[in-house]
Formats: sequence, structure tokens, C-alpha cells
Amino acid sequence: METANRILDYFGSITPSQAFFWLFFQNILQFVLCVGAGLLLIKLFSARRIYQAPEPLSKKELLLAAGCVFFNSVVAFVGWLLWKNGIIVITRELDWTCFADTAILLLLMDLLMYVTHRIVHIKGIYSLVHRTHHIYEDTRPLSLFVLSPLEVFGFGFLWLLVLCLYSSSWLGIVLYLLLNAAFGAIGHIGVEPFPKSWIKIPLVQRLTTSTFHAQHHKEIDSNFGFYTDIWDNLFGSLNKAYQATFERAASKN
Ligand SMILES: [Zn+2]
Ligand SMILES: [Zn+2]
Repeated sequence: METANRILDYFGSITPSQAFFWLFFQNILQFVLCVGAGLLLIKLFSARRIYQAPEPLSKKELLLAAGCVFFNSVVAFVGWLLWKNGIIVITRELDWTCFADTAILLLLMDLLMYVTHRIVHIKGIYSLVHRTHHIYEDTRPLSLFVLSPLEVFGFGFLWLLVLCLYSSSWLGIVLYLLLNAAFGAIGHIGVEPFPKSWIKIPLVQRLTTSTFHAQHHKEIDSNFGFYTDIWDNLFGSLNKAYQATFERAASKN
């Protein structure tokens, strides 16, 4: 993993404008990969539509998504500044603890995002922060990026706060970011790629599916979780029809 060490050393030596350029590039790449993988999954599982297909793409969605990619890069740049100044510490070990880092980051962010997601659904705060993400009831891969700037900064700074408080290995962070992108993309494709048995497998059944988040877009007072349904189960916000809706979509061929 010499290359990874070299990348970290390189990021430590560059100027702020070079750092912004690379972080912007990385965010554009992530956007292209998420949308591309999402479109591929829709093609592969086109028969397993959860709800109806979305309306044709609008200019407003595209603009909001472009803004999100830019503002995500600003968040990443603030993260770079915090790392350069020793406030965020990223370790370089490469052993089993990297997977523990990913698990801790996922569980911690899952809880924090559940709580903040419930807060942004409170009347008044909702229209200011989160309504933009709910304009489109039937989602597409791009919908993951259809967020108000306030929401992008809210999620971004929550993530940076976690990184300030928890020193993770770089591999733990990279794996978390990949999983975060995968969960985000799958939650908005509008088709169910997981097998029908998914929600019967112990532990695995706790991970969210495409149906889980699609249902949140349809019925906004349920399914607030992102990576797991643990908190929805615990706090009674899991959609009563979740299992039936998932099985219906996953049974289609
Ligand atoms: Zn969504
Ligand atoms: Zn919501």
C-alpha cells in the first residue's frame, strides 16, 4: 500500500488551490460512478420497479445536483484544512482495525443521520433544509444529489465532526465513503436489486434496501435510517408495509 502512503504525503505537500482541484475532481468522479452504477442497476433489474418510473429529468434537478457536487467539494476542502492543521488525524495502519474503523464510522453516522433526519422533518426546519430532497417522489440515481446547499453542508459538517472526534485509518475512511455512496445510490434507483431472501437473513436484514428509502420518499413520516433500520425499529418509525413492499418488488422477475 505504498501508493496510498504516497497519495497521503502528496496531499500533505500541495497548495490549497491544488487540493481544491483534486477534491473537486474526486467529487465529480464519485458523482459519475454513482449515477453510472445506478443506471446500470436499473437496466439489470428493470422488471423490479418499486413504484412508477420518475418524470423526465428537469433542469432544476440537474442544477441542484451540480450544486451538490460543488458544495461537497467545499466540505472535502474544509476537511483537508482540518487534516493539514492536525485537527483531523488519519492513521496509516493496514490490519483488521481498518474494518473496525469502517464499522464504527458506519454505526456512528447511522445514528447521527437518523437523529438529524428526524430533526429536518420537523415543520419549519423541513421547508428550510430538507424539502428540496423530497420535491421528487419517484427517484432516480441523480436524486441522491438533489439536495439544498444547507443540507449538503449539514451532512458534510456532521461527517467532519465525526472525523475530528474519531481518528480512523485512511482505509477505514475510504471503505466507509464507498459504502456511503453505494447505499445512497441504491436507495434512489427505484428498482429492488436485492434478492427476496435479503430481509430474512439474520443481521443482513438490518441493512437498508432500495425499497426502504424509496418508501421514505413516498411516505415521508417513516423509514428515516440510511444504512440500517435499527433506529427505525427502535423508535417505531419503520414503515408497517416495508416487508410486504420489499417482497412484492423483489419477487418480480
Ligand atoms: Zn432520498
Ligand atoms: Zn427525508
